[in-house]
Parts: sequence; structure tokens; C-alpha cells
Amino acid sequence: MTFDLTPEQDQLRDAVRALGRRYGHGYFVEKAKAGEHTTELWADAGRLGYLGVNIPTEYGGGGGGITELAIVCEELAAAGCPLLLLVVSPAIAATVINRHGTEEQRKRHLPGLADGSQKIVFAITEPEAGSNFHRLGTVARRDGDGWLLSGRKCYISGVDEADHVLVVARTEDASSGKLKPALFLVPTDAAGLTRSKLDMEILSPENQFLLYLDDVRVPADAPVGESLDAGLPALFAGLNPERITVAAMGAGTGRYAIERASEYTATRKVWGGRSIGSHQGVSHPLAHAAVQVELARLMIQKAATLYDAGRDLEAGVAGNMAKYAAGEAAALAVDTAVQVLGGAGMTTEYGVATLLGAVRAGRIAPVSREMILNFVAQHVLGQDKSY
Ligand SMILES: Cc1cc2nc3c(=O)[nH]c(=O)nc-3n(C[C@H](O)[C@H](O)[C@H](O)COP(=O)(O)OP(=O)(O)OC[C@H]3O[C@@H](n4cnc5c(N)ncnc54)[C@H](O)[C@@H]3O)c2cc1C
Repeated sequence: MTFDLTPEQDQLRDAVRALGRRYGHGYFVEKAKAGEHTTELWADAGRLGYLGVNIPTEYGGGGGGITELAIVCEELAAAGCPLLLLVVSPAIAATVINRHGTEEQRKRHLPGLADGSQKIVFAITEPEAGSNFHRLGTVARRDGDGWLLSGRKCYISGVDEADHVLVVARTEDASSGKLKPALFLVPTDAAGLTRSKLDMEILSPENQFLLYLDDVRVPADAPVGESLDAGLPALFAGLNPERITVAAMGAGTGRYAIERASEYTATRKVWGGRSIGSHQGVSHPLAHAAVQVELARLMIQKAATLYDAGRDLEAGVAGNMAKYAAGEAAALAVDTAVQVLGGAGMTTEYGVATLLGAVRAGRIAPVSREMILNFVAQHVLGQDKSY
């Protein structure tokens, strides 16, 4: 492992940073408040090749890995534009289709995911199952040469912006008791698929939805992969990229908040000639948050390096730890930034309190801090499961 980026990765970081700064947090907030999406930023990122950095060149991507996609996620967030759909569409959907899809599915979806003209969102969470994925109730039944899907999903991000949703469903023969999930590519305009927008306390241009699947008919080639056996490996294939990129988004958000706060505290003077940042009561919490963000970045780099080297199991441990560390660090950094800005911290203008909801959600989704601690306790520390 090296701590230096390659010259290409350095260039990518600088270029994404420049794009992010061109839009900035003001744009992100304006779109969120207007109930609009960051369409222009997404289109630019696609046109410049940033959405497809991890997609093979033969399908129109940049031929890089999750390291490159993590750079994109972090730098956009560090510019005040944390785009959750980067975690869903290029990280989860593109990885799943690239690694486990049929050649036909790769050709149909990867070029559009790479240039940003297509978005595929991801639906696993259900109202009844919650964190217990073994209780999934969405069922896929054979219907002639196709499938009928029924069930409910909740908190699904970006359905209104996507043309497909990757639905995790149990195949009916799982009645034997063994979980046999499969991933289905379902067009968002399929008959029987309806949605209702959830009111969330997160200021974001991306929305969450309840999804209702009432006998949604999909064709024989809707399941990802050549056979239903691809389902479980395909599902797991999406998890490491999801954890690593959401962690990168958290680290970028943390950097953004600390930068905004440091600029302010270095120049704000309320006690004569000294800046408020000269008081350790102000600077130490900021420095502490900066240490936590940097530690998280280190773990993200390790996880991405392991993942890109094909060391999936080790990447799983590192990716979960990175997600935990970055989720906590981002929440700490934004909360600290709000505090050291005083009243200004609560204004829209200073652009830090606007992220409170998002970083709070980052400790719950896409996997909660408790479920990561369970994972570490069981898989690293060898503890028994309590559930
Ligand atoms: C902004 C946002 C976007 C999201 N986007 C998507 C999306 O695009 N697609 C998607 O499929 N889902 C999405 N989700 C859902 C998210 O992944 C879930 O909310 C998350 O996995 C937790 O599941 P739950 O809400 O059902 O909580 P529950 O499972 O009901 O858990 C509630 C609490 O109990 C804790 N808990 C549960 N079981 C245990 C245990 N065994 N040990 C210790 N603690 C436990 C949890 O950690 C949590 O704190 C999103 C959620 C949010 C907030």
C-alpha cells in the first residue's frame, strides 16, 4: 500500500474538485430547497467521465476501480455536494452488473451508467425486515417465461430520477427455508410498481420513497446473471463498493465542514485582536474532528486498495470499519463546525447546519453503526451472535 495517489488519480482528484467547486454547496442547497435534482452537476460529471471511472473501458467507462470512484465521491462531497446516488448507481448497480450480469445486461446498462444518461437505484430495505435481510418478504414468482414481483420496499433513494431499480427479492423456491435472493432489474415505469415520497428531515436534492410492487411483471432476462445462483454473490458484490463510497462521501463532507469552520474561526475576532480559533476551546474540537476524518480516510484508502486487488473478504472488514469511522467522523465534524460558528453555524448562508440531517442519516444508512459493530464483533473478535 502506498499513501500516494498515482498521477492519474491525482489529476482525477483535482479535476473533480474543480467541478465540485464550480457548483458548490450553495447550488446543492438551492436545488434541495426547490425540490429539484442536481441534474446539471450529474450531467457534467457523466460527460467528464467521473461517473464511469470504475466501469471497464469497453463499456464506455474509465477502466479504474473503487479507489477512483471513492475519489469522485469524496471530492464532490468536499466541495459541498454529497451525492448519495453516486453510491447507488455507479458503485452498487454498475459493480453488480459488471461482475455478475450477463454480457447482454452489461452492454445494455453500463454505457448509460458511465455517461450518466442512465441511473439505476437499489432496493433492499423493507418495512418488516429492517436490518434483518434474512426476513425479506418481497417475492418473485415464475410467470410463463417471466417473473411476477410483489412486496414493499422503504427508504429507496432516487427512484424518481432512475430508469431502473435493482430489486432484491426472494425467489419462490426459497420456501424450503433457505434464503435464495435474486436481484431483478425492474424499469421504474413498470406496471404495478408505484411509489410514494417519504418526508425526510434531510436537506437533500435526492429523495427517499416507499415502493409498492403489486405483481410487477418483468421478463425472463430481468434477474441479474445467467442463473438465479448469481443472486447471492451479486448482492454481496455490491456491498463493499457501497460501504467504501459512502465512507468517502462522509469523509468529504467532514473535510468540507472543517474547512468552512476553520476559515471562519481563523478570522472571527470577538475578544480584541485574537481570533476565536486561538482559543483551544474552539480549535481543539476542530482539530479532533480533523484527526477523526483523516483516520477514516486512511481506512477508506486501505479498503479501496484491498477491494481493487480482488481481496474481497479483507476489503469487507476494512470497508465496514471505514464506513463506521467516516460516518462518526462526518457527524462529529459537521456538529463541531456548527458549534464553532456560533449563531452563524445555524444560518443557511454559512452552509454547515444544512448538512446536519445528512450526516445524522450517515450513521444509520446504508448500514447502521450497530450492524457494523455486530459484524466486527462476530467476524473480527469471534463473538457469538445475539440475534
Ligand atoms: C437517507 C436514507 C437513504 C436510504 N436509501 C436506501 C436505498 O437507496 N435503498 C435501500 O434499500 N435502503 C435505503 N435506506 C435504508 C437503510 O439502509 C436502513 O434504514 C438501514 O439499513 C436500517 O434499517 P431500518 O431503518 O429498518 O432499521 P431497523 O432494522 O429497524 O433498526 C433500528 C435500529 O435498531 C438497531 N438494530 C437493529 N438490529 C440490531 C441488532 N441485531 N443489534 C444491534 N442493533 C440493532 C439498528 O442499528 C437501528 O439503529 C436509506 C435510509 C436512509 C435514512
